[in-house]
Amino acid sequence: MSPRVVVFAGGVGGSRFTLGVRAALAARGAEPTVVVNTGDDLWLSGVRLQPDVDSIIYALAGVNDTARGWGRAGDTERVNEELQAWGAGWPWFTLGDLDLGTHLARTGWLRDGLTPTQVLERLSGRWPLGARLLPMTDAEVDTHVVVADGERMHFQEWWTRHRATLTPERFENPGIERATPAPGVLEAIASADAVLLAPSNPVVSIGPILAVPGIRGALRDTTAPVVGVSPIIGGAVVRGMADVCLAAIGVPTAADAVAAHYGARSGSGVLDAWLVGEEDGEAAASVSALGIEAHVRPLWMTDAAASAALAEGALAAAGL
Ligand code: GDP
Ligand code: CA
Repeated sequence: MSPRVVVFAGGVGGSRFTLGVRAALAARGAEPTVVVNTGDDLWLSGVRLQPDVDSIIYALAGVNDTARGWGRAGDTERVNEELQAWGAGWPWFTLGDLDLGTHLARTGWLRDGLTPTQVLERLSGRWPLGARLLPMTDAEVDTHVVVADGERMHFQEWWTRHRATLTPERFENPGIERATPAPGVLEAIASADAVLLAPSNPVVSIGPILAVPGIRGALRDTTAPVVGVSPIIGGAVVRGMADVCLAAIGVPTAADAVAAHYGARSGSGVLDAWLVGEEDGEAAASVSALGIEAHVRPLWMTDAAASAALAEGALAAAGL
């Protein structure tokens, strides 16, 4: 039987890894189920944005802007200029015209009464994605950042406007304690042959997924091996500002520290195995000491072949 593989993913790192898993599974006649972070979501100028969801859809469809790293290839900003002229939205947050088409379609369907899961199913029908996408939850649990003096802002404002330069005191997802996993998420984890944690931001991408009540428990209970990939290579983030996020929760920017943060399933955590980079070979021993199987692999997703090789490594670590 073709293997059932579930991937937990954020945006850019998550979509690169998902492309690799899709390629690796295609050879086995299977497609992954991807549980996507919705903590990055926000309302802006009357439309609902889902940055991580859209990054994954666009990447799987092959319509993403690979040079810029976000949005649609060949997009224009005519509507954005009008919004700015009206003083609407955020002057430091650009919405592409094609991207706005996605947001309008999504918002219209939400207004019609569809759930975010149903909307994502519709959005997934436009292109052959080769994967099943599920939001982590149908609840709105947008990530907030509390900075010095207790000032609170949406994650996107902290990340995009302030480029993560304001020292975060904590990250919160208001209402998440009352949220439930989106339909299909717990079932997918329970019936999986492997669950893979993409090398996404552990705090603001994988963190919110694990914070939805029931998901962490499902990971601990599944018979499937849970395998994670380090987003930290050679003691540094590959791109983005995950190091600032990790510092805020007291986790050093190191492959073994992130593994310890997720924890071993044999203890009170969620991991059975952890892929660390060849640059972090010495971290492998401390990962093993945590009760997590360490696998040293090249972790750079420089192109499609490298992402597929990384995914193969993760599947092998899961015994597939
Ligand atoms: P975002 O939602 O767009 O910020 O993206 P994610 O949370 O999915 O991924 C961001 C993380 O991906 C960062 O912490 C990077 O360190 C990591 N990352 C990016 N490229 C690579 C890569 O080629 N290999 C690995 N192992 N991690 C990567
Ligand atoms: Ca994100």
